Amino acid sequence: MDMHVLAVTSDPAERAQLEQIRGPAATDDAVITLQFAATLAELAALADGAAPAPDLILLNPLLADAPPGALWQALGTAGDRTPLVLLAPATGLSPAEQAVRLGAVTYLVTAATPRELLRRLLQSVVVATRLGRPPLDQQGQDALVLESIADAVISTDEHAHVSYCNLAARRLLGLEVAQMLGRPIADLMRLQDPKSLADIEHPVWQALASGAVVRIPAGCILSRPDGSELMIEDSTAPIHDGRGRVCGVVMVFHDITNARELQAQVDHLAWHDFLTGLPNRFAAHRHLNRILKEAQAAGQSLAVMYLDLDKFKLVNDTLGHAAGDALLVSVAARLRSCFRVVDLVSRQGGDEFVVLMAPGSSRLDATQAAQRISAAVALPHQLDGEPVHVGCSIGIALYPGDGDSGDVLLRHADTALHAAKAAGRNVWRFFQQELLSSAIERRQLENGLRQALGSSEFELFYQPKVRLRDGALCGCEALLRWQHPAWGWVDPARFIRSAEESGLIIPLGRWVLGQAVRQARRWEQQGLLPGAVAVNVSALELRQGDFADHIGSHLAQAGLDPARLQLELTESALMRDMHGAHALLHRLKGIGVSLAIDDFGTGYSSLSYLADLPIDLLKVDRSFVHGIDHAAPRRQTLLRAVLALADNLAIAVVAEGVETAPEADFLAAAGCGQGQGYFYSRAVDARTFERRFLAAAPGAP
Ligand code: GH3
Ligand code: MG
Repeated sequence: MDMHVLAVTSDPAERAQLEQIRGPAATDDAVITLQFAATLAELAALADGAAPAPDLILLNPLLADAPPGALWQALGTAGDRTPLVLLAPATGLSPAEQAVRLGAVTYLVTAATPRELLRRLLQSVVVATRLGRPPLDQQGQDALVLESIADAVISTDEHAHVSYCNLAARRLLGLEVAQMLGRPIADLMRLQDPKSLADIEHPVWQALASGAVVRIPAGCILSRPDGSELMIEDSTAPIHDGRGRVCGVVMVFHDITNARELQAQVDHLAWHDFLTGLPNRFAAHRHLNRILKEAQAAGQSLAVMYLDLDKFKLVNDTLGHAAGDALLVSVAARLRSCFRVVDLVSRQGGDEFVVLMAPGSSRLDATQAAQRISAAVALPHQLDGEPVHVGCSIGIALYPGDGDSGDVLLRHADTALHAAKAAGRNVWRFFQQELLSSAIERRQLENGLRQALGSSEFELFYQPKVRLRDGALCGCEALLRWQHPAWGWVDPARFIRSAEESGLIIPLGRWVLGQAVRQARRWEQQGLLPGAVAVNVSALELRQGDFADHIGSHLAQAGLDPARLQLELTESALMRDMHGAHALLHRLKGIGVSLAIDDFGTGYSSLSYLADLPIDLLKVDRSFVHGIDHAAPRRQTLLRAVLALADNLAIAVVAEGVETAPEADFLAAAGCGQGQGYFYSRAVDARTFERRFLAAAPGAP
């Protein structure tokens, strides 16, 4: 279709570009005539002269000398009748907005629009106007809406060349309209798969080929022309012409980088340990299941290593929890440095770590890794500029020999770890079937304890403490006994150890205390009780911040005279944290309870600390007492020395484990005040104790 175009522009480059549309062209032989006005004066001259009325006006509003009002005047009536197309956005306003304001049909950027496209575009505008298409401002409104929405919108022709791009699209790509229109979309937007990072076929091409709506994988990475990357979500739909042919596509997409990053952070937290940044136990389990499948398919072995720091509590107790945390972080970094990237180093919790060596790792690899770990962890860790030393024990289980599921392998590595701890710590052990029976037993015991806590399987027994001089009762020790419905009486040493390992000693200790205090109160009310009822306190209980409050509230609740309660603490529990122990013991003393050191002679046996601690009673361990009457003179001298020292410090002494009369006589002669042991009585239940010792005691009603 022939047509006459009036181009109003003072931009020489634009003018040169427009010159090219003069016909005829390869695809049509229509003749397009062009007339230019570069200034307001030229435009006015054209309007006044005999120039033919244009079919279309192309307008660049930035005429050097033209304020907007003057421009309209110069266009005269032509501006009202003739379709107007805005040239090149040149102001702060978006081109669509300018177009609407000027009443233009559309806008185009000549520099970015190829000749053929420019011709067709201009022709279609003229045709649409002649056919009485929707009012110009309606189209402009549509353009404005598209321009204003937050989603990026890009349309292309059937060759995947950009034919439209809205403001959001330009912003996301960091390009001007001129840099986009007419360019192949694939040159402007490189897309990569979020997982494999492989380039993906541009959805525009896919939509053109399939004629259907296409969605790229969520989180697809868009490389911008400036090299930066975004994550986008898109939907690309084909545009059909009047005959149903695909003549282009429209792609709508938006930036989901922020949302993805937020999600990634949440995901990271779910799968990583907050303190060390290592994968957490869930991530390790998931990874183990994955690599087991791989190993199985490839017929390879792999190693699971369970690590636990040795005596880590000591660091917490002596240097504080923050130092403990810093040590865990330091250990985590050392562990990571001992392994390849294909091996997973995770933190299970507390001071436990699990390493999963990748498929292909052998027993020898695991041995060498254990050597590396031991050496790396043993190097001093700088905490607040101070060197701190820590060791670790390691248990190792191998696939497929030691199990073929993740759970079994982890359990067996844990069993091997227990064996390493039992072997004295700071060593590694491989799993062996023989270890299993003790591990199963241990677990059963723990489960049994847990159940027993809620039932009436526990009972307190009482063993008398006797004044050696005359055999008078001077107190008793409450001892926990457990009668399991199926196993019968369980060895106290065994179940107490299990309760300490599992932490169940805390609720158990509280139960014991409550019982003992109530019982003591009953005997006190009946006027039966000489001395105090002693209760054993474990190291773990002592470390509970609220231990003293707890004692105080139990006493207050029962209304028991605090002096009637004696707490037996072990030397080793106190030595862990002398400073803390000092403060706690003085607090307890302030409450009014009496304090005894249990098992004296088996721990550090540091006599010097006794002078600083408010101790009332020293319990000499049975190992000193057994056969003391006929023991070597050196041992007898040692016992005498302990007794003399206690006497000097005005601390009473009770000898534990007195089994024979000669032992009792020797102790009495050496100056020991009290005795306890089978020679006097085993521990018996409360009724028996009451009947046998209290009701019969001098002064009993
Ligand atoms: P063992 O040689 O038997 O392993 O003795 P241990 O003192 O290391 O004892 P265990 O492994 O049973 O105890 C680990 C302690 O770690 C228990 C807990 O008080 C402490 N712990 C757990 N989580 C954290 C943590 O996030 N930070 C710090 N500082 N300590 C923790
Ligand atoms: Mg530990």
